[in-house]
Amino acid sequence: MKIYSRDQHPISRRNISESALKVLYRLNSCGYEAYLVGGGVRDLLLGGKPKDFDIATNATPEQVREAFRNCRLIGRRFRLAHVRFGREVIEVATFRGHGDDGDRSVEDGGRLLRDNIYGDIEEDALRRDFTVNGLYYSIDGFTVRDEVGGMADLESRTLRMIGDPDERFPEDPVRCLRAARFAAKLDFEIESKTADGIRQYGQLLDDIPSARLFDEVLKLFLSGHAERSYLKLREFGLFKYLFPSTDKLLESDEGFEKMLRACFKNTDQRIEQDLPVTPAFLYAVLLWAPMKRHADRQLERGMSPHDAIHHGADWVLNPANMRTALPRRFSTPMREIWLLQPRLEGKTRASAKRIMSHPRFRAGYDFLLIRVLQEPLLEPVAERWTEAQEQGPEVISRMQHKPRKRRRRRRGRGGPDKAAEAG
Ligand code: ATP
Ligand code: MG
Repeated sequence: MKIYSRDQHPISRRNISESALKVLYRLNSCGYEAYLVGGGVRDLLLGGKPKDFDIATNATPEQVREAFRNCRLIGRRFRLAHVRFGREVIEVATFRGHGDDGDRSVEDGGRLLRDNIYGDIEEDALRRDFTVNGLYYSIDGFTVRDEVGGMADLESRTLRMIGDPDERFPEDPVRCLRAARFAAKLDFEIESKTADGIRQYGQLLDDIPSARLFDEVLKLFLSGHAERSYLKLREFGLFKYLFPSTDKLLESDEGFEKMLRACFKNTDQRIEQDLPVTPAFLYAVLLWAPMKRHADRQLERGMSPHDAIHHGADWVLNPANMRTALPRRFSTPMREIWLLQPRLEGKTRASAKRIMSHPRFRAGYDFLLIRVLQEPLLEPVAERWTEAQEQGPEVISRMQHKPRKRRRRRRGRGGPDKAAEAG
């Protein structure tokens, strides 16, 4: 164990949120130990701006609740206290311990289902994932406490699993994704045994509930380092566990990969500029090629573009093809972005004016711009819509062609097509 005094580290109270400071002071004044821990300390030490502040304490969740009026206990897998200050929530966790008695439940494969055994700070440090996430900052003395060699790893920009990767990855396979995310976000090198562990245990992600994977996807792709996250996921063979049907098409469809990369780049730039980003657009791009492949088969069978897209969307969103749970509030606008595509291409009768007044028009247009990377022939169409926004919808009316009469009868939207699914 090593203690770094206030002149041996760059953390200053000025960069810690008021609310986090209040919680630390309050717990201390109640006689408890309390530390800032995890990403907050890590990012402060790296000179970055932490996105949230986590606190660890020897007070039990119930004791934390008694110390604050604005406090709620949450979680089953890990019981935590949330202390709320307006819109900011400070997460307070009681030190985890090891030992076999108490409220811990482990599955056959070694996965931790519940972990509510409390311990001291030394034990707590060993239960964290990576050394750089295992540093503790105390407001009582302004020291940084390092039980796991996190300072040295920060110095050399190394991401290293605490303890034995052969135990720690199976305990919680989501740590594989976290490793890829931190390596991308911090631009750290992954230490070799940790890297071997990711490759070996990534497949255990198949057993993780899809809602938890969705949360991880948002952290991977909507936090300003999407492109690097993607490259890390591919490097470690993890992408296929998140997006299996997308992964299958990436090798054979270079244009689709270009589309993905462009989307990640745009997303990162938007976040840099404080512009809004949405999972709906991200997923529209991520699932585009598998959706379209399925929809195209339906088109060949004579289905209308609109119905074919719904058909493709149903197919791709089916739990059998989807490892991350996309909530409906995002899948509905995602469908709308897709449904606008044949309209923007002039394959339907909708007037340009009507298309442009669609609430999702701007997203649909941005999506079309990205599609040009996969289908360069769409470039003139995309340019027309750029002009239409500058000069008005008349630009489009002049070029719009009448849709061809379909030879076969239109077929309704139905369940997934067996033959197409097999192919
Ligand atoms: P960021 O908030 O920037 O995404 P973080 O490191 O703070 O990164 P959180 O998910 O907020 O990540 O978790 C806070 C801390 O809790 C981590 O730094 C780590 O010490 C611990 N932790 C979180 N998830 C796990 C896990 N699955 N296994 C072990 N420790 C974890
Ligand atoms: Mg955090």
